[in-house]
Amino acid sequence: MALTGRWRLKVRSDFSSAHQLRHYKGKCEALHGHNFSVEAEVIGTTLDPVIGYLMDFKELKNCLQQVLETLDHKFLNELSAFQKINPTSEVLARYVFDALSTLLLEYPVTLHSVMVAEKGSSMATYELYDDGIPGGAEVAGA
Ligand SMILES: [Zn+2]
Repeated sequence: MALTGRWRLKVRSDFSSAHQLRHYKGKCEALHGHNFSVEAEVIGTTLDPVIGYLMDFKELKNCLQQVLETLDHKFLNELSAFQKINPTSEVLARYVFDALSTLLLEYPVTLHSVMVAEKGSSMATYELYDDGIPGGAEVAGA
């Protein structure tokens, strides 16, 4: 079987917000803040024939920044996206993934994953399934 390759580009950014985890029995039920770090990774197979890049890193960072602006210095629980579900790292990763996917539609890349970390040692990733195993995140409660 012939192997085929592809490129992955990853950018990092961060934002600072407050949240509280409703119904959580512990310290995180109280209002508190984090300096969240975020990584977004796109994949693609076609390089720009003139420049030789998959996508301009600067544009990828700009797209991620546009999404993070909607979260930065906010009380996340008050945003409409997090009225019914807690703004946990998992939920934030899916939120960033969905919003960033839309912004990337005009580029020849596919958003592969978004990682959100409340601190360096705890991180949640929301990612596209591409290994033939169906994703359960959207259908588990259906
Ligand atoms: Zn927290």
